[in-house]
Amino acid sequence: MEDCIFCKIIKGEIPADKVYEDDRVLAFLDISPINKGHILVVPKEHFENLLETPDELVEKLVLAGKKIGLAVREVVRAEGINVGINNGSAAGQVVFHTHIHIIPRFSDDGYKLWGSDKKYELGEGRELAQKIQEQLNN
Ligand code: 5GP
Ligand code: ZN
Repeated sequence: MEDCIFCKIIKGEIPADKVYEDDRVLAFLDISPINKGHILVVPKEHFENLLETPDELVEKLVLAGKKIGLAVREVVRAEGINVGINNGSAAGQVVFHTHIHIIPRFSDDGYKLWGSDKKYELGEGRELAQKIQEQLNN
């Protein structure tokens, strides 16, 4: 993908502060961190988002993300780590190259992830769960 910013980082065309690299995966600091040590884990091959990424590559990304999470937790003495993936612009995805956010968290960092006041009507949750189950079995 020629105009993909992460492909450019992977090709070395634009700089990034790299923390991890293997044959399939690259990880580097997010340029605009939620907290210092916020890392992006990306496949070297371009896919639009997680849902378009082959399973075997997802496994490698998640395992790298876990390893990196453990390391960054030590280095910045994080109290928690958010692991997040935005898929689609409605979900907040801005860069359309699969990436896992590894975000160090502190109880006093003031960052609010999400909250909800939505509730299911009586029976609605069960019906929806059933539909999803059926879709999974298709
Ligand atoms: P998204 O919202 O797509 O899940 O997240 C994209 C992330 O990429 C954002 O957190 C943003 O700060 C980061 N980002 C965007 N452009 C660059 C860049 O050129 N270099 C680096 N290191 N991170 C970037
Ligand atoms: Zn790309």
